[in-house]
Amino acid sequence: MIQLFMPLNFLGFVYREIRRALTDLESMLALLKRPVKIITPPGAKELQLTGGKVVFDAVQFGYRSDRPILKDLSLTLEPGKKLAVVGASGAGKSTIARLLYRFYDLDGGGITIDGQNIAQVSLDSLRRQIGVVPQDTVLFNASVRDNIAYGRPGASEDEIERAIDLAHLRGFIDALPDGDQTRVGERGLKVSGGEKQRIAIARVILKRSPILIFDEATSALDSQAESAILQALKEVARGHTTLVIAHRLSTVVDADCIAVLSEGQVVESGNHTELLAARGHYARLWALQQSSQQRQL
Ligand code: ATP
Repeated sequence: MIQLFMPLNFLGFVYREIRRALTDLESMLALLKRPVKIITPPGAKELQLTGGKVVFDAVQFGYRSDRPILKDLSLTLEPGKKLAVVGASGAGKSTIARLLYRFYDLDGGGITIDGQNIAQVSLDSLRRQIGVVPQDTVLFNASVRDNIAYGRPGASEDEIERAIDLAHLRGFIDALPDGDQTRVGERGLKVSGGEKQRIAIARVILKRSPILIFDEATSALDSQAESAILQALKEVARGHTTLVIAHRLSTVVDADCIAVLSEGQVVESGNHTELLAARGHYARLWALQQSSQQRQL
């Protein structure tokens, strides 16, 4: 009996492995079904910015056809104001930023900037108007200064100096062995997550885009790093239409409007005081984050 059991057991194992491999393949194929190529109509006009109003109108989107992430999502970013999107992990917050930068096309609905559908204007003109501070900034194997200047090739020395100051990078640079000529990268300086985000902020300052997206880092930064970033961001965002993808509510208390995302839709919106008073989703998230912060102290 045992002689029969061993081969059968082995066959069972092989069968389960094949099933798993097939499931992985299926998921991969489902992903591939989404056209990754962004198609812009031939002769598409340049995006003309007037005030910088951004409207998401009944947006539907999923990375895979069988798993919708945003379901009829509508929200408005008023010109020159700061809108924060909050919600549970995986709710689709960063996806909103990716769609505005047009990394993917929508399954339904539309996104307009000053009344122009972003899918109908040239991609280049769209992306020129949007400055992004991503969760994880890529630094090149070059000097700190070159990494900052990358924001706008051709920026003057004075503009770079101003960006360094506004992004609160002066102290960091002054402490480096070769100042802003210090190399970062594989064999060079190791740069922390908070410092990387401030370098990205300096790049965005140089880029001078009227619309800003700030995708907050998910990993907790120490409170000193966080307050340096918040301070830098506040100065940069002044007068710009700003979308903040927030993972920590403490960073959005001053936003003009906060949209709470749940199950692919905006379920609540208002400013911090209004949302706390409403005692809904936001108030619950706030209480949760406050108590977890207290536990960490
Ligand atoms: P977090 O707060 O954890 O960063 P989030 O609200 O920003 O989450 P998204 O990054 O927008 O969430 O992701 C929404 C959902 O889409 C998640 O379930 C995620 O696993 C899935 N997702 C994100 N990017 C991709 C991708 N490139 N391919 C397939 N699924 C993805």
